[in-house]
Parts: sequence; structure tokens; C-alpha cells
Amino acid sequence: MSFKLERIAGAYWKGNENNKMLTRIYGLAFATKEELEAFEKMQEEARKRDHRKIGKELKLFTISDLIGAGLPLMQPKGMVVRKEIEDYLWELHKNKGYDRVWTPHITKKGLYETSGHAAKFGEELFRVKGGDEEFFMKPMNCPHHMQIFCDNQFSYRDMPVRYFEPATVYRYEKAGQLSGLTRVRSITQDDGHLFCRVSQIGDEVSTIVEIIKKFYTTMNMMNGYWVRFSVRGDDKSMYLGSDEVWEKSESALEKAAKENKLNYKRVEGEAAFYGPKLDFMFKDAIGREWQLATIQCDFNLPERFDLHFINEKGESERPVVIHRAISGSLERFMGVMIEHYAGNFPLWLSPIQVKIVPVRENHNEAAIKIGNELKELGIRIDCDTNEGNMGGKIRDAKNNRVPYTVIIGDKDLAVNKITVESRDKGQLGQMPLEEFIEKIKKEKENRE
Ligand code: ZN
Repeated sequence: MSFKLERIAGAYWKGNENNKMLTRIYGLAFATKEELEAFEKMQEEARKRDHRKIGKELKLFTISDLIGAGLPLMQPKGMVVRKEIEDYLWELHKNKGYDRVWTPHITKKGLYETSGHAAKFGEELFRVKGGDEEFFMKPMNCPHHMQIFCDNQFSYRDMPVRYFEPATVYRYEKAGQLSGLTRVRSITQDDGHLFCRVSQIGDEVSTIVEIIKKFYTTMNMMNGYWVRFSVRGDDKSMYLGSDEVWEKSESALEKAAKENKLNYKRVEGEAAFYGPKLDFMFKDAIGREWQLATIQCDFNLPERFDLHFINEKGESERPVVIHRAISGSLERFMGVMIEHYAGNFPLWLSPIQVKIVPVRENHNEAAIKIGNELKELGIRIDCDTNEGNMGGKIRDAKNNRVPYTVIIGDKDLAVNKITVESRDKGQLGQMPLEEFIEKIKKEKENRE
């Protein structure tokens, strides 16, 4: 047994500030000294990678006192990272039969009374008034997407119907729980809803699993991942929907998990009352586990909104809804990515991909020309023609974690080449501009 006292803090007896202040002592206990040391090392590494610290250094996002905690603002550089993630998510969906939709941020109360979210979210809902009318900020996108589905007379030939919308929802989290990008009140889900027949669940889930695997392979997070497969417990009366639908959908999910060789664990009694689900846990670079992607079957909302389509017999049939999110939320995911990469984003995610440094002022013109050429190719550059010495400019590129620094001086111009320094691999020496362009184009396109 190995233990250590970590820190102390004040706490009111029973959490009531009218009571006496007590001292809370935090301690760590592990079976072995090695485990304790490994944990402490991980904690120290986590502090170095804190996304709030790195976010400030790299000017990625801002929390403004005038706007409020939990409502982060994206700086231009942070927006580049966020937009790249969002675009990549859409790229993975667009050829899989998904359509983009858009829904407003506020709604009348009735929608959430029908959906049941008014009762579920209760005090977490933000209320807004316009004249005499009361509205809610949306805490979920699902009921909105149901309304889009409802306004169509779909037949079995149209099924499955798939909607995709990265959309911001609002939930009142207690002020004390807010933190940077990972605990916020404005949450942008990379949301999507599928409306399908029970017999189509398996194929649809398989497609989503493929997308998840591709996405997290690119993010270098497939090592040590696992999936929690949540099914009904013994007390079947707690769940909505017929035994037949539950059995079919649970086996469809399990089949998809098996076919895709997912490392999954079946957990009895952990399903939501409205359907079984798959939750994906991924480990970041320092071994911390994050619950990120999710796939959930839902038999409840289709009932509540009376969703239907016309089947082969000309009868009304109730679809199943599948909720899915790949990154979870763009804010939280970005926070996780900042810590996962410790700010050293891969080229495709880097706000500035190449910094161009002229050795002296008389190299500015050549530097600008090369910069423009890279810009034309969609490379994000910073051509540093400011006053100041070369050493300072290179240091600045390092501090900003820019993947490549291109140096241009007499020795380079004489042989019509550039000198390249890589953030991750060090000095790459001189090379023709065309060779460098080929190299980074490939690295960017493959999201290496
Ligand atoms: Zn949903």
C-alpha cells in the first residue's frame, strides 16, 4: 500500500455556509509505490497540458467576464481548429446518405413538453422572453429534427432518413462546475439523427461505427479505446417499447459491434429507458479516458411525436430514431485535443501551418512571394516581415507550435531553394520549394 497526503481545503459542514468551516484533507492511495508515482506523473503532465493554459498561450479562445463563464468565445486561431474538425466530420458523413439541416436556438415550450425534455432538464433550461411570449433555449436538437421529419410524407423507400447538424445547445450548469472548454453552458454537438426501420438498425450502426473508427484513427486515439454496450436490466417494466423491438435492436447493435471488431463490454441495466446504446471511451496521449462518441437507439421520441412512414402494405409504421454524435461536443472535444496534442496540433489542424522567416530585410520580397504561392494552395501561413532578428522570429514560431518554419536567406536564394525546420523532426535542411509543397500537401490531405 502506498499513500500520500495531497492537499487541504476548507469545506462547510454539510455544504451549508451557515455551518462551521471544516478542513477537508485530500489523499492518494494505491496498491503499489509504482502506481502512485505513475499517477502523480500523469497529474503533472496533465497540468502542463491544461487546455486553459495552452488555449491562452496560443490565443485559441477567450472567456469574457462580461459574457460569462461557460460561454467560451472562439478566437480566429481557435476557430480554424474547430472548423477543421467540423469540416472533417461532415466529410465523413456526406457520402453516407446524410443531409444537412438547420434549426433555431429557441423554441416554444410545447416542443419540450411533448418531448419530455421540460421535465428531464427542469432547472437546467434557459428561459427567454420576447414580449409576452416565453421561449426556451434548446438543450437538445432531437425534438427539432423530429419536426423536420414530421413535415414530410415519407414512404419505406425513403428510409433511412439521416439528418446532420453541428448545433449549439444551452444548459444551465452550476457556476462552480464550469471549466474552460470542457464544462460549458453553450455546447455545440456534432449532432445527427437517423430515422429507420428496426431491420435497418444494424447497417446504420455499422456505418456510424466506421465513421467513428476513421475519425479517432486520424486523431490517434484508437489505442486502448473501449465501448460500453448498455442493454436492459432485469426489471423490464422500467423500459419503454416492446420486448420484440428491444431484442431486435439489442442484437442489431451487438452484431454491428462484433462485425466491426469493437472492443466492447456488455453492461446489463445501463440502457436508457428509451433504448440500448453504445458509448465510446477513448484514451488521450497521457492515458486519461474520455467518453466521446455515442450511438443510441430511441423508441420513445418517435412515439411522443407520433412519427411514421408508409410501409409496403400502405400502412403507417413507426420508425426508430438513432441519436449519434462522433466528437460529442466541439467545445469539449477541442479541449481534449489541445491536451491530447499538448498544443502541437498535426499540420491539418494547425492554425498556422508554415511560418516564413526572411533572414534579413532584403529577403522580404522573396519571402512574401513564396508566402503568396503557399497561400494560393490553401496553406495557412504567417510571413514574418516585421522588424526584429531572425532568432526571435524562429523562437516565436516554436512558441506558437507552428509545424514548419521556412527560412529564406542569401544561401537559399543563390541555389533557388528554401531552408526548412520541422517542429517535430528538427532541421530538414535545404530543399526546392516544389518539394516542400508536395510534402506538406500530402501531409495535409492525409491528415497525418
Ligand atoms: Zn438526439
